[in-house]
Amino acid sequence: MTAPRARPTRQEAGGITRRDRSGLAALVPSRWDLWSLRPRALTYVLVVDVLAIAVTVAPFVGRPATGQDWLVAGLLFLGAAVHAEAARHIERIRITRTDRPFIDLKSMWTFAGLLLVHLGPALVLVTATFAYWWVRNEQHPPPHRWIFSWATVVLGTGAAALVLLDIDKSTLLTAAAGPKGLVLIALAALVRWTVNHGLVVGIILLLSSPTPSVRRHLASPADTLLGLGALALGAALAVLAAASPWLVPILLVPVIMLHRGVLVDQFRQASRTDPKTGLANGSAWAEMAAKEMARTRRLGTGLAVLMVDLDNFKAVNDAHGHLAGDEVLRAVAAALSAEVRGYDAVGRFGGEEFVVLLSGVDPASASHTADRLRTRIGSLDLTVAGPGGPTRIRGLTASIGCVASPKAAGTVDELVGAADGALYEAKRAGRDRVVTAPPA
Ligand code: GH3
Ligand code: MG
Ligand code: MG
Repeated sequence: MTAPRARPTRQEAGGITRRDRSGLAALVPSRWDLWSLRPRALTYVLVVDVLAIAVTVAPFVGRPATGQDWLVAGLLFLGAAVHAEAARHIERIRITRTDRPFIDLKSMWTFAGLLLVHLGPALVLVTATFAYWWVRNEQHPPPHRWIFSWATVVLGTGAAALVLLDIDKSTLLTAAAGPKGLVLIALAALVRWTVNHGLVVGIILLLSSPTPSVRRHLASPADTLLGLGALALGAALAVLAAASPWLVPILLVPVIMLHRGVLVDQFRQASRTDPKTGLANGSAWAEMAAKEMARTRRLGTGLAVLMVDLDNFKAVNDAHGHLAGDEVLRAVAAALSAEVRGYDAVGRFGGEEFVVLLSGVDPASASHTADRLRTRIGSLDLTVAGPGGPTRIRGLTASIGCVASPKAAGTVDELVGAADGALYEAKRAGRDRVVTAPPA
């Protein structure tokens, strides 16, 4: 698993990587944006990196690796490289998600390495696969992020090695190990996943502000299955390689086939997300809202639907350009999401219209929340790139139609229709206000 690729900073997009296509200039540490991290995040990254270097060197102290260890590690590297090349176009699509840890399926090769060889060469294998993938990645991700991702895998692998300490690796992968072999390998995989994942989520939390949410950044159940599945494949690969190394290429075919399958989740996610704001799109929001309505009805509590429309938004586009308008939409989306609770659903209905489902609220608190959202939009103060350089945009206003349903009665469409009617009233009455429709 690696830390997600954050959106390129302006410096990366227009500076280092564009000027130097080989990416070599980006290797100069003084140019890394690592140094601009907050002290706590910087300390965290440096401690993880230094620990990983120590863990990579330590296994060679006292017990040298054999030529056989290096040979097997080299062959696993070859397999990882073939896998990486075959999955290049898939990874290019997958890596665009930035909000959660990136699950690296090629970890199967390094986990197999842990099971097959001395820890030293196994960690050198981790290092070599990261270096290879950095060189082959056209975008040459910022090296310090890559090094951090490498460090989390090294520490995960090192921790997993503790589970296998004092175990004879030549019997671990044979029938002689019995059920104990299964338990040890499963435990090692679990430890590797947990340490690796925990360290990545740690930095995401340290970098996210102002209110980090652990739940939002943890790997989804599907991603967890994917990550553990890759390690399980690593175990199968190790058994096959131990029994008959020449059969390993056969495993490559189903692995690449499975790798293609992971895109299904990506496409499903994309079909539910508004690409501009990252919010749920209209149909995904309606689906979430219907589920939430059913749940609230069962609980016997109420809910409300808000329809939010930016006032005179056309004028923002006309004055600052459509790209600046898009920045405003993103900022409004972020403000709405931040202002409501985690289980309230925010969606982009279309254009400059947003929908919000507030669960478990009575009519009074729904109107109160709607007014808070209106004030929050009004307090946005943005500096965005305009045609003639950076421009400041503030003084935005929004009109909001609100409808509460104390017993969660009716359908999503009925509530949206009622909120839309109230929004129309708000516009007619002069904008920058909340109008509440009679409870549904
Ligand atoms: P009102 O107060 O009546 O809502 O006025 P308005 O200008 O906000 O509403 P109108 O419906 O006349 O115009 C909506 C504008 O929203 C026009 C359109 O260019 C802009 N818009 C819609 N979608 C997008 C988008 O994705 N990006 C940008 N930049 N603008 C958008
Ligand atoms: Mg509109
Ligand atoms: Mg509008």
